[in-house]
Amino acid sequence: MQKIAILGMARSGLAAAAKAVSLGFDVFLSDRKPRSEITDAAALEAYYQCEFGGHTSRILDADTIIISPGISRKLPLLLKAADRNIEVISEIEFGFRIKSPTLKLIAVTGSNGKSTTVSLIHHLLATAGINSILAGNIGDAFTSFPIETDSIDTAVLEISSFQLETCYQFKPEIAALLNISPDHLNRYSSMEDYASTKFNIFMNQNDDDLAILNADDPWTHKLMRQINSRKLYFSLKKHKDIYLKHNEMIVFGSESFPINNFSLKGPHNLANIMAAILAVSPYQISPEIIRHGLETFKPLPHRLEFVAEINGISFFNDSKATNTDAVRYSVQSFTKPVRIIMGGAGKGEDYSILNPYLKKFARKVYLCGDTAVEMEAAFDPEIDKKVYCDLEDALQKAFLEAERGDIILLAPGCTSFDRFSDYTERGNYFKKLVRELNDEKK
Ligand code: ADP
Repeated sequence: MQKIAILGMARSGLAAAAKAVSLGFDVFLSDRKPRSEITDAAALEAYYQCEFGGHTSRILDADTIIISPGISRKLPLLLKAADRNIEVISEIEFGFRIKSPTLKLIAVTGSNGKSTTVSLIHHLLATAGINSILAGNIGDAFTSFPIETDSIDTAVLEISSFQLETCYQFKPEIAALLNISPDHLNRYSSMEDYASTKFNIFMNQNDDDLAILNADDPWTHKLMRQINSRKLYFSLKKHKDIYLKHNEMIVFGSESFPINNFSLKGPHNLANIMAAILAVSPYQISPEIIRHGLETFKPLPHRLEFVAEINGISFFNDSKATNTDAVRYSVQSFTKPVRIIMGGAGKGEDYSILNPYLKKFARKVYLCGDTAVEMEAAFDPEIDKKVYCDLEDALQKAFLEAERGDIILLAPGCTSFDRFSDYTERGNYFKKLVRELNDEKK
């Protein structure tokens, strides 16, 4: 029997473990967290062979090691595994290897917009009555679904660069690369390294498959020659397979969709919508259904989410804006300059990239969190900015200084790990603070 070691007892690791056992593999689970910090440790021990509090050389008994996306394959023990020809793969790669050959895959990667785009693709397929699942980096793990059976038509997968690092045979029929901008530079040696990892999404595709590419993205231009599949391009600026003309989105030069009716707002979301339309183009969905799907899609929380209007001041939560590119688009999504709250835990980015955008689109920058001082130093003197003790303080001051008609936007440009468990907790906390401002006003 093939032996599998699984590193990381979280969502994807546990799904892979359950699937591997159900398929008859011999499974060993390992986590660096102590037993006391693992939910349901006793139940896991009853079902699997486990180790807690660190990975030991026991994992080297396996033929294949599945790692969770947060674990670097450069871990010394994993390098040792590679030396011994033990495969180190992601849960997505494992899912690909055991899935039914009839299950079609639409995979989406990129620095920003993945969750929005895959959710929209899934919504468009569902609106057309196509049986699809949404999995990967979003919602439930890929292997938590009955993907080895013929019960599902299409899996729409959000794929991060971390997952792509350990994909080898993964071959989606349709793959989209939305954009490549600075992100996770604390994990990659260079932008080239990060960008080429993203291109792994296309590495096994052939003429029968489809690659969806952003014609406005310089990194895509640099590397796209390596792609062997049929290419479709979207662009906000050029005349491509899908493009903009006045207030219309033109698809394959024939169909047009009025952009003012879309539920998603902001220029970046127009790019995401274009990618989603191209991704479902092989399904021959009628333009009426696509139009209906684009109008009925519910935008995800924590992405440019409208929170409330208090005394004529509007509050928006873009807690998921965890890098500079997301902030760049976030501030351009409004009709007037915003009061923006920024800062959090850094990822090795150069914040000065934002100077031209903050000068043009920000009325004042309220800085808080671990990166506040570094950001203050990176931003030009002409930008009105100040460091505050914390998010509460920054929000209070922004509210005090705002006038009727102003916009207060949380778009941190950083991860939340200096203070919160993730961007959701940060966004929910921001919304709670806004609700309290509303109560105080009454
Ligand atoms: P991801 O899953 O790649 O993190 P999300 O859809 O969750 O993407 O959006 C993350 C952040 O990036 C949000 O702040 C959102 O407003 C912004 N964003 C979404 N799409 C794009 C895009 N195409 N380009 C730049 N920023 C984007």
